[in-house]
Amino acid sequence: MDESRLAVNIRSNIFLWVFAATVVPLTLLVLAVTQYSERQHLEQVDGQMMTGLNYMISEIDRRLTFERDVVEALAVSPSMQAFESALVDVDEVHLDEYEIAKDDLTTFLEEFQSVFLDVGTIRVLDDDANTVIKVRFGSRLDETVTGIKPYAYSESEAVDDFFFGEIQSLLPGQVSYVLLPASRNEFGFDRTAPMLDAIVPLQDVFGQTSGYLLVNSIGVQIDRILELAPRLYSGKLMIAEINPDLRERDGLVLYDEAQGQVFSTAKDTRKNLSDVAEGRLLEEVLRQPSGAFNTENGKYRIYYSEYLPYPNQLISWVIASAVPQDEISAPFARIRIAIILFAVFALIMSLLLANYGARRLADPIIELAGNLKAYARGEPLSQNSSTATSEIEELQSAFDYMAQTTREAEKERDQAELMLLQSAKLASIGEMAAGIGHEINNPLNNITALVRLIRRELPEDQVEVHHDLVSLQEETERATRIVRGILDFARQVPPKYTTIHVPVWVDESLALVQQMAADEGVSINTHVEPGLYVEGDSTQLQQVLINLIINAIHASPRGSSIEIEAHRTRDEAMELSVCDQGCGVSDEVMPKLFDPFFTTKPVGKGSGLGLSISLGIIQHHGGTISVHNNDFGGVSVVIRLPITAQQKPHD
Ligand code: ADP
Repeated sequence: MDESRLAVNIRSNIFLWVFAATVVPLTLLVLAVTQYSERQHLEQVDGQMMTGLNYMISEIDRRLTFERDVVEALAVSPSMQAFESALVDVDEVHLDEYEIAKDDLTTFLEEFQSVFLDVGTIRVLDDDANTVIKVRFGSRLDETVTGIKPYAYSESEAVDDFFFGEIQSLLPGQVSYVLLPASRNEFGFDRTAPMLDAIVPLQDVFGQTSGYLLVNSIGVQIDRILELAPRLYSGKLMIAEINPDLRERDGLVLYDEAQGQVFSTAKDTRKNLSDVAEGRLLEEVLRQPSGAFNTENGKYRIYYSEYLPYPNQLISWVIASAVPQDEISAPFARIRIAIILFAVFALIMSLLLANYGARRLADPIIELAGNLKAYARGEPLSQNSSTATSEIEELQSAFDYMAQTTREAEKERDQAELMLLQSAKLASIGEMAAGIGHEINNPLNNITALVRLIRRELPEDQVEVHHDLVSLQEETERATRIVRGILDFARQVPPKYTTIHVPVWVDESLALVQQMAADEGVSINTHVEPGLYVEGDSTQLQQVLINLIINAIHASPRGSSIEIEAHRTRDEAMELSVCDQGCGVSDEVMPKLFDPFFTTKPVGKGSGLGLSISLGIIQHHGGTISVHNNDFGGVSVVIRLPITAQQKPHD
């Protein structure tokens, strides 16, 4: 998988988990809580609305009861009774007494009406249901219609048999309700009277029905009650009558706030209860006397309650209020918007988090993957730059540790292989050198002896021959030295161990090359740990040290310095280094340094045996020798020797 796909994968995974673990349950929870609270709220609103409606009903009922009580009291008032007696006894003879009683009662009724303003027209009917007294707006209305009776009527004769029949069956002394014939309707012919009229049959002293008191309520007080009743919402009130006995009144809308129709005005909207909410309100009322329901289009919630305004009648009023649904659920609409905003916010946050998390997770993983590939290709590893979680950090450092130790092990293995190869090379070359050395050494010895003999016997004056012989002798001695070196190298003499006091031993070795260093203008500094001892062959090791110093002097430019340093390591070894500031060793030369006879020095200056002999000696001591270029541009040769002598297996 490539890096970008890995990052995208991690990102979408984190996003999914963050989203699924937080946003989804949280949103669902909030939605569920909101749903629950909304239901609770609706129940509360329902309760409050129903309480409001019932409060209005009880106020209306109180008012109607009060009006009934007033009418009842009026029926038994002394003026009324005095007039009743006069009415029963009226004839041509007693007409004056009748007129006086009538006038008394009319005056009383006028005064009464000026106190009870909202009591509409008051009528006193005789036993034929003809109006004998009519008082309206606090004053009498006299039409003076003459009939068969000796007294005049205040209104045209009643001709409605239905009305007449109806009032004859009423119980005397009790308030009942009737509908006046259309000709006497206070609202005129245009509009059906919203309320029925209260009627009380009047009795004379013999218990005979002598007439009727008929009071018409114009509903001003009911209008006021409805107007002043506390409203919860902007729902409009409507009151309609359910009248199973009179078809034309069944479903009649008496009060309709939305249309401005009230009890006391003459407006008639011609609206019927069966039209309200597509007939649903009527259906609901017939099913249950009070309750609430939502309209089909879901725009309104209609609350209603049925009320029986007239005692002993099947007529009922349905009081209803339609509240806009929006208003009820307004607080939750805001909450719902808040939830949506929250969900969007959470979505963005989880995306950002996923992005951040992916970067935190993916970047170190990608880096690690890159390092793994680099490691496989043997390329240098990059430094971990991104901040990782502790687990990935641990993985990274474990990998770094593995890579480092493996590379170190590889280096050591390469070094060991090189050394092994060098040893093998040395061994085979050593064998050959030993053979050649022996063969050449003897003739060289003979040549030297013969030259000495010839020089001794040659006359002094043969100066030129003498000079040639000296040259021959010198060249032979040089050849002998080389051969001895070859033999030393080939012989691989086992070390004779003694305890070497390193600081003293270094100083003694230095003394042997100090002059040479001075001639080359090179200074030598030593930093040797005082009291450092090592077991080894002092002479062989001195040969090694001198070899290294001579090589360093040869490589060093004038005025530079050579640093010799020796100390004891923690693992019981001595580490001795010779560092110069010379020309260093090229990569090409480096692998050949320990090869016998490899030299870059001019003829006569180097034999190419110094380092290979040194390697042999150090290996015999169970130590190691390594060469590397140092930070000063020169070479550092490091020797590691065990502090205590170690016998090599083949020694
Ligand atoms: P020789 O000194 O006789 O050349 P060595 O085996 O001692 O033989 O050294 C082999 C070669 O290693 C040298 O010719 C030289 O090129 C290189 N060499 C050794 N020591 C150093 C040094 N300190 N700085 C640079 N090159 C060195």
